[in-house]
Amino acid sequence: MIKTLKCLQQLKETPFDISKDKPRLMGLYDAIHKIANDKNGFVRQSSGMMKALKIGKLSESEEKNWLNYAGEIYASYAAVKMYEESQQGTLRISAEELEQVLSFYLNGRCSKEVTAIGIYVCAQQMNEENPMQSYELTKKAFTVYPDLASLLGVKYRYKGKVTEEELTEVCPWCGSKGEDIVPYYCSPQVMQLDNNQSFPPAKLWMKCRHCGNYFTFNFPKSNVGIINGHYTQEGKEKKLQNKFSLDNYNSIFNQFKALTSGADYLEIGTGTGEMLAVALEFGYHVEAIEICQEDAERISSFLGVDVKWCDIAEYETDKQYDVIVMGDVLEHVIEPAKILKKVKKMLKKDGVLWISTPNYNCAYARMEKFSHCMWHALNHYTYVSFESLNEVLQSIDMEVIHYDMSARYIGSMELFIKHQDK
Ligand SMILES: [Zn+2]
Repeated sequence: MIKTLKCLQQLKETPFDISKDKPRLMGLYDAIHKIANDKNGFVRQSSGMMKALKIGKLSESEEKNWLNYAGEIYASYAAVKMYEESQQGTLRISAEELEQVLSFYLNGRCSKEVTAIGIYVCAQQMNEENPMQSYELTKKAFTVYPDLASLLGVKYRYKGKVTEEELTEVCPWCGSKGEDIVPYYCSPQVMQLDNNQSFPPAKLWMKCRHCGNYFTFNFPKSNVGIINGHYTQEGKEKKLQNKFSLDNYNSIFNQFKALTSGADYLEIGTGTGEMLAVALEFGYHVEAIEICQEDAERISSFLGVDVKWCDIAEYETDKQYDVIVMGDVLEHVIEPAKILKKVKKMLKKDGVLWISTPNYNCAYARMEKFSHCMWHALNHYTYVSFESLNEVLQSIDMEVIHYDMSARYIGSMELFIKHQDK
């Protein structure tokens, strides 16, 4: 394949000389004829062409036209074939070959569609080794052909700047920037964007070498109220739908009871409302904050609980609580370190803060590497490990009392946190 692409590129780039190029052209046609089979009726149409070429019946410009036609067919075949193989995980291509294939699609003067698929496939091959280039090339592919996703069966049109303008170069955990921040992994998320215009086609994860945490380079930060929530649904049935079996929360609430006797409970981020309902069953006086308006309204009216529609980043109160719950929220917020400081002030002296969030050093992540779902979640902005989060907590005089693996989310940790004794 590489040889054919190279030959094709050479023929396209050099002035066409019928006597000199004819053997190369015939060889190329033979190769394309065999490989491309009858995609787009190429074999049928090219049989006559092969005959005419052999007896030298065509003019120079006719030969050149046929070359371009065959080249386009082959390039599109090669791009699609590479895409299919990369999806199946069977594509084996060396770094040198990848460079050659990429340069063909970048310079090959194919149609926009073929160029875009070719570049996109190349971008996918370097998302671990060269994540920044993978991200740039994905953008390039979508810039060349903004409807590229439709070729992959996904309703999504790339709008360039709208989704790309919010870039982060400073670690949201420790404030480091510059050389401390390195590209880590580029997640291709196009296939998740059917009828969803809120995200760019690839997500670039950055690693902060100072604190060890990860954050998203390109993230729609001003849309947090739109991209988060929507866990409750307006259905025919008049009920709130639970996502997990509610007895999953037994051990969590029994820990709360063991750690503090108070009953003032605040939940930040309500999800489906199920944990709030369990808190009511366990006898807590319940309040909540939720960033998604429809979820806040539905859960409020269903459970009869005061759920404020508000971003925790903007929420101000002097009230303090015995139990504060942040279930799978931290990975969504834009200024996590600031939020933790704020929440600490809202926790009573003997109160318990419960945090569930993905742990990038969890057992699942160690086993699954980049196949782990955490690297492909659309609306997750940042990740910590137990060790790195513990450091942040200690720096604000809080300590982890108990650690559990989440029974609900693969790769999340559940931490029970209290103020440090002084
Ligand atoms: Zn950092």
